[in-house]
Amino acid sequence: MANGTVMGLGQRLGDVPGEAASVELSVLPFEAPEAQEVYRHSSSHILAQAVKELFPSTKLAIGPAIEDGFYYDFDLGRPFTPEDLERIEQRMQEIIAKNCPFERMELTQEKAIAFFQEKDEPYKVELIREFPEKEKVTVYQQGSFVDLCRGPHVYSTGRIKAFKLLSSAGAYWRGDERNRMLQRIYGTSFETPQQLESYLARLEEIRRRDHRRLAKELDLFSIQDEIGPGLILWHPKGAMIRKLIEDFFREQHQKQGYDFVFTPHIARLDLWQRSGHLEFYRENMYPPMSVEGVDYELKPMNCPFHIMIYQTHLRSYRDLPLRFAELGTVYRYERSGVLHGSLRVRGFTQDDAHIFCRPDQIETEIANVLSLTVLTTKTFGFNEYEIYVSTRPEKTVGSLENWQQATAALESALKRHGMPYQIDPGEGVFYGPKIDLKIKDGLGRSWQCTTIQVDFNLPERFGLSFIGEDGKEHPPIMIHRALLGSLERFFGVLIEHYAGAFPLWLAPVQVMILPITDRQHPYAKEIAQALLDADLRVELDLRNEKVGAKIREATLAKVPYMVIIGDREAGNRTLSLRKRSGEDLGTMGLDPLVQKLRQEVRDRVVQ
Ligand SMILES: [Zn+2]
Ligand SMILES: [Zn+2]
Repeated sequence: MANGTVMGLGQRLGDVPGEAASVELSVLPFEAPEAQEVYRHSSSHILAQAVKELFPSTKLAIGPAIEDGFYYDFDLGRPFTPEDLERIEQRMQEIIAKNCPFERMELTQEKAIAFFQEKDEPYKVELIREFPEKEKVTVYQQGSFVDLCRGPHVYSTGRIKAFKLLSSAGAYWRGDERNRMLQRIYGTSFETPQQLESYLARLEEIRRRDHRRLAKELDLFSIQDEIGPGLILWHPKGAMIRKLIEDFFREQHQKQGYDFVFTPHIARLDLWQRSGHLEFYRENMYPPMSVEGVDYELKPMNCPFHIMIYQTHLRSYRDLPLRFAELGTVYRYERSGVLHGSLRVRGFTQDDAHIFCRPDQIETEIANVLSLTVLTTKTFGFNEYEIYVSTRPEKTVGSLENWQQATAALESALKRHGMPYQIDPGEGVFYGPKIDLKIKDGLGRSWQCTTIQVDFNLPERFGLSFIGEDGKEHPPIMIHRALLGSLERFFGVLIEHYAGAFPLWLAPVQVMILPITDRQHPYAKEIAQALLDADLRVELDLRNEKVGAKIREATLAKVPYMVIIGDREAGNRTLSLRKRSGEDLGTMGLDPLVQKLRQEVRDRVVQ
C-alpha cells in the first residue's frame, strides 16, 4: 500500500519511510507523485478534523490520497448537503490558518484501541484489531484532532495552500455492499491557487464532454432500468454513427483479407468447459440456462466459435493465414458498481477477429494488424498512442521457445512501424504475450482500445492443427485482436473526444436546412432532395420559428453545416452556408456545396 494512506489492512509500521513525522515538501517538487500524495493525504486529515468539529457524532473511516486528490469516508447517518460542504471548506480554511504541526505518536495496540474506543471510533478500532500482533500503532495529531495513520504528512496544516471539496457520494465501508453505507467526500489540493483553478477548469471540460450527458442531449443512446444496467439502447442518431463505424470495419477488413463470420449468442456449456472459460473466466459469465435438459451459456467471447469454424476443414500450410472477423456481441458480468455509461457495460459488440497462422507468419500478421489499427484510429481522429508489450508471466502455457519467438515477433512488428513501446514485464496473460494500445483523446486522456494477443492455449485445448510442408500435423498460432475494443466503449470515447461535435463523415445529421419563411419552403425542399440524392444526411426545419432560434437549436444539436435560405437565395437559386462553429461560409450554388460536402465525407476529414 502507498505511503500516506490512513492505516488499513495489515500494514506494517516498518514500512514507514524513515519513521518521519513529516516530509518537507521543499525536498521534493510538487510534481513528484509522492509529494502530491503526502500533500493530499494531509489535506484529508484537515477535512476529517473539520467534519469532526462541525458534526461531532460522525465516525471516521479512512481517508487516502487518490489520483488528482483525496477523499475521506464518514459515517454521518445521512448524506452531506452542498451547504455542509461549504461549511466544511470554511472550517478547513480556519484549520489551515492555525498552521498546526502534524505530530506523530506511537502507541501499543491496547492503548490505541482504548483510545479510539473512548472516542467512539469503531472503524478505527476495527482497523487496529487487524494489525499484526505486537505491532505498534502510530497516530497523528494536528491541533486537538488525532487520527490513526502511518504517515507521512506535510509539516503543518498551513502548508496546504489551495484546496477544494468537489463532491460527496455514498460508499460502502471497505467497498463491500454488505457493509454499512458511509459518506465519502472528495476533494483536491494544490500548491498554488492557479494550479487549483486550472485543474477545476479541466474538470469542467471533462464534465462538458461526459458521454452520458451528451448521449442524452444529442439523443444517441440510453440505458434504462426496465431493461437492466449496463445494457445499451442505441437510438437512431447513435445507431447511425455505429453503422458508419461498422461500415468502415467491414470495408477495411475485407481489403485486408479477412473473412467475415457470424456466430450465435449462446452455446452449450460444454464448449466453455472445453475452452477453459468456465475455469478461468467464470466470475465474468452469467449463470447457464437449461434448454431441453442441456445447459447453455451466454457468450462472453467469440473465440471458441471461430475455432469451431476453423475445425470444419483439414487445413494445410497453404491455407494459412486464415482471418475470421466478426462484429461479435458478447455478455460479461460486471458488478453494477463499476458500470459506467457506455464505457463499461454488460453487453457489447467487439470488432473482433481471430487470425490462425503458421509460426513464421506471426510477425507479418501482427505488422498488418498494426497498420490496420493505425489506419482505423487515425480515421476516427486519434493520432497519439501509448503502447505496451506484456511479456511472459510466471504461470503460463506454451513452451519458453514459443513465448520468446512470439514476443520477439510482436516487438519487431512494432519496430517495423517505428512505433515506440514500453515493456510490461510479466504482465502477459497466461496463454501468450500481447500488445495493448491506448489512444489519447482531445483532453490528453488515454483510453485502452486495441489489444493484440498471441494464444498458445486455445489451439492446444481444441487440438487445432494444420498439415505442414513436411506432411505432418502442426498446431497453428492463434491471434486474438480487437482494434476499437468494443463499439459501445469506443462510441463513449468518441463522444468525449469530439465533445459530441462529430466530423462530417460521422455526424448523424450532416446538414440542416433552414428556410427563413414559408415562401422558401418549395426551394428548401428541392435543396434537401438534392443533398439526399447525393448521399448526404439532411434535415429540413420547416417549423414556424425565427431563423435565429433554428440556428441555435441546430448548433446545440452539433449539426456540422446549416444551409440558410431567404428570398434572395431562393430568387437567384443559391444558398447561405454556415458552420456549427458560427463561421459564415458565404453564398454559393447547390453544385459547389454538394461537391464540397461529398469531398469532405469521402476524405473522412476529422478537422
Ligand atoms: Zn495520515
Ligand atoms: Zn478471442
